[in-house]
Amino acid sequence: MKKFGFILMLLLFVLALPQNGHAAAANSKIILDGKELTAVQNVPVENVNNSIMVPLRMIVENLGYQVQWDQQNKTITIEQQGRIVKLAVDQTAASVDDKTIILPTAPVLRNDTTLVPIRFIGEQFGLTVTWDNTNKIVNLITPETPSDNNDTGGGTVDSGTGVVVPPADTTANLTLVNGVSFSENRLTIAMEGNSVPKVSKITGPDRIIVDIPNATFSDLFGTGQLLDPNLNGSLVVTDYPDVSAVRYSLYSTNPYTVRFVIDLNNAKNYSVNISGDSSKLAVIDLNAAGTDDTTTQPGNSGRKLVVLDAGHGAKDSGAVGVTGKYEKNFNLAVVLKAAALLKNESNIDVVLTRSDDTFLELKERVAIANNLKADLFISVHANSGGSSVASGTETYYQRAASKALANVMHKYLVQATGLSDRGVRYGNFHVIRETKMPAVLLEVGYLSNKGDEKSLFTDAFQNKVAASIVSGVKEYLGLK
Ligand SMILES: [Zn+2]
Repeated sequence: MKKFGFILMLLLFVLALPQNGHAAAANSKIILDGKELTAVQNVPVENVNNSIMVPLRMIVENLGYQVQWDQQNKTITIEQQGRIVKLAVDQTAASVDDKTIILPTAPVLRNDTTLVPIRFIGEQFGLTVTWDNTNKIVNLITPETPSDNNDTGGGTVDSGTGVVVPPADTTANLTLVNGVSFSENRLTIAMEGNSVPKVSKITGPDRIIVDIPNATFSDLFGTGQLLDPNLNGSLVVTDYPDVSAVRYSLYSTNPYTVRFVIDLNNAKNYSVNISGDSSKLAVIDLNAAGTDDTTTQPGNSGRKLVVLDAGHGAKDSGAVGVTGKYEKNFNLAVVLKAAALLKNESNIDVVLTRSDDTFLELKERVAIANNLKADLFISVHANSGGSSVASGTETYYQRAASKALANVMHKYLVQATGLSDRGVRYGNFHVIRETKMPAVLLEVGYLSNKGDEKSLFTDAFQNKVAASIVSGVKEYLGLK
């Protein structure tokens, strides 16, 4: 891994999270270890330049940190467990144990209350900080044990970026963790390298620890999952009564260890399955035999549920073809044809996100599949390029757990269309990122290409594409 790419990735995350711009976050809540903190002096949480800013007093009083406020110089000194962090109002330069770092956003004064960037403060003192952008909740979790406090283990604070940088040239030959997902009560970790994960169970509270020795996160990991500047993150897990959270971190840099923690609501058995040679998937399956939990999947009578998603709709036409035809109409036609074919399959149920010219938000499409606990999600689109020459089919996956499905679907799609093969690609699309089951997005052809557009709007071509979707689904589900 190139160090520059690594820093760049971290920088992107400093800049990119959370995602709702300059909006005030007046209704935000701050939850510390499951308990909501009450606001002081009616000073609300703010979102300034994508940094969540919270009243300093609210944090330190609840955490018991020592704070000194210098009224004249408007500086703040926070001391805890021997670490000293100094901040100044309206200045992005701060210091951690005398090392200068640059904050994403400077502390600000509001009605004599100082607001500070909570992600930065929390992480300096070993808190896990997450931001739930949907519900506007800042979640703070104190370390489980003193040894868990995100010790950077010999890493250094880069003075230019405020980012913890691992020591150089010790990262060669490390296993790279590329992705993680949690669905169907299974934690799936995608990685490249020779490391073999060590899985163990801890009680009080119950949790499963997955340590990957001699490993770090790859650049790819940060594009698919939340990863903060200190290389901590978590997956939002709902709908699984056994699991309260999945957290991960670069647990140590000496020796390098990536740790995943599945926080359980009750003790669970699990099985571990590791497949692949250097490019591996490790699956920690909580549906293991020996538990009394055999009914996690409602309606699971051997039938598989496939959600088909026709891209765009109504006011959102999608791409507009060279002769003015709309992508949304192509997508819907193919999905309706594929659904009609799938309904003939005795082992497959099919649900459409839209079956007419309706507008749906991306998150509504995702919610349909996630709420139904679908087995597969397939989104149908047509492409458009800057050049009229671009032509052919692409199949996109976002999570490692979707790549095998992408390979199978693409094989049939290329055959069916007869268009040029533009490959299976990684794409950070909302609907295939946020869904929890294997999910792909098909770009069937280019509406900006005269030949492609003509084909795409013929019945015969659409029938072939629909049949290829059915073939791919059946092969992937082992129903052929
Ligand atoms: Zn589209």
